[in-house]
Amino acid sequence: MTSSDLIEIISGKLTRGQLPREWPAGNRGGWGLGQPCAACDATIDAEHLQLEARFPAGETRAFHVRCFVQWWDLVGANGWARRGT
Ligand SMILES: [Zn+2]
Repeated sequence: MTSSDLIEIISGKLTRGQLPREWPAGNRGGWGLGQPCAACDATIDAEHLQLEARFPAGETRAFHVRCFVQWWDLVGANGWARRGT
C-alpha cells in the first residue's frame, strides 16, 4: 500500500465518521496482537509495532505506527482537533 492509498483510506473513514477526529487521551505502544488496524484494516502482526490509542470516551483503537502517524496528521491538517486540548 502506498502512502497516497493510505491517505485516501484514512480521509474517507474520517469523512464517514469511522475514525475518531479527536486526540487520544493516551497511547500505549507494543508489538502487534493480531488485531485489525483501525485505519487500514490489515492485521497488526506480532512482528509489527502497534499503537493503541485510548480516546476520552473510553474507546480504544489499535493502529500500525505509520497508520497512526498518518491519521494524526490528517486530523490536525483538517483542524478537527488541536494537540494538547
Ligand atoms: Zn494500518
